[in-house]
Amino acid sequence: MTTTSLREIAGTIQSQRTVEGGGFSVRRPFPTAQLDQIDPFLLLDEMGPADYAPGKAVGAPSHPHRGFETVTYMLSGSMVHEDSTGTKAVIKKGGVQWMTAGSGVIHSELPTDDMMKLGGRMHGFQLWVNLPAAKKMIDPRYQGYEAEEMATVQLANGGHIRVVAGVVHGAKGPVETTSPMTYAHAVLEVGDVVEWLPEEGHTALIHVFDGEARVNESTSVSGEMVVLQRTAGLVRVEATTSAAQILIMGGLPLGEPMVRYGPFVMNTKEEIITAVEEYNDGKLVKVGKNSL
Ligand code: MN
Repeated sequence: MTTTSLREIAGTIQSQRTVEGGGFSVRRPFPTAQLDQIDPFLLLDEMGPADYAPGKAVGAPSHPHRGFETVTYMLSGSMVHEDSTGTKAVIKKGGVQWMTAGSGVIHSELPTDDMMKLGGRMHGFQLWVNLPAAKKMIDPRYQGYEAEEMATVQLANGGHIRVVAGVVHGAKGPVETTSPMTYAHAVLEVGDVVEWLPEEGHTALIHVFDGEARVNESTSVSGEMVVLQRTAGLVRVEATTSAAQILIMGGLPLGEPMVRYGPFVMNTKEEIITAVEEYNDGKLVKVGKNSL
């Protein structure tokens, strides 16, 4: 098979609107009752867009994670992140926070003081990335990058691609991933084309979240995620009739048992019970402090 053939589409997922913990509205392609993960990805949430009046912005107060990574990518607004390893960082428009929870992290993700005081638009994504069994208990790690620090590709008709991790259009994102992975955001004007060659055998997803885009042989509108087959082949996305925005996600499937319970994702039920017990006993965090 040549690399110029297009990957076949396995299916299209319709996002569902739901309300998350801190009270913010999210649009979620997965997990759903029918689809608990798209290995190695565990969850994708589009936060907002929501326009907050002064004093009304919401976030996620102190909570734990173990066994996977949380990736926050902001399109509008800003959040302040604080975690048990002592990291405190502001994620601004276009910035990304790639947090490897590993053996355990307690963190909060809250609107910045400015956002609280002045109000404004909050819009972004949170992606959950699973860790392989052998790396679930690694030390926590925080990688934060601002928009200007990411690899950017300008497209012919005025759009662009911002690469967070992996390689798209020859541009390599700055984030170091625990397993081979691609994560990118593309803004497409009519006629702009993105060509992406995910590795054979890897999961490949295109999530359309604004406008309408043609993904290989099928056209998708905002809120639809296209799941490609894992066979060799190219993924080609074109904004044919309107401007569009997409997320590009790819990764090596782990193929391991996955047991999730709220903010913990492990391989067995016993490991989940241990995580809950350790959290309750104030022993979840091995690096840093057990409370914020
Ligand atoms: Mn979190």
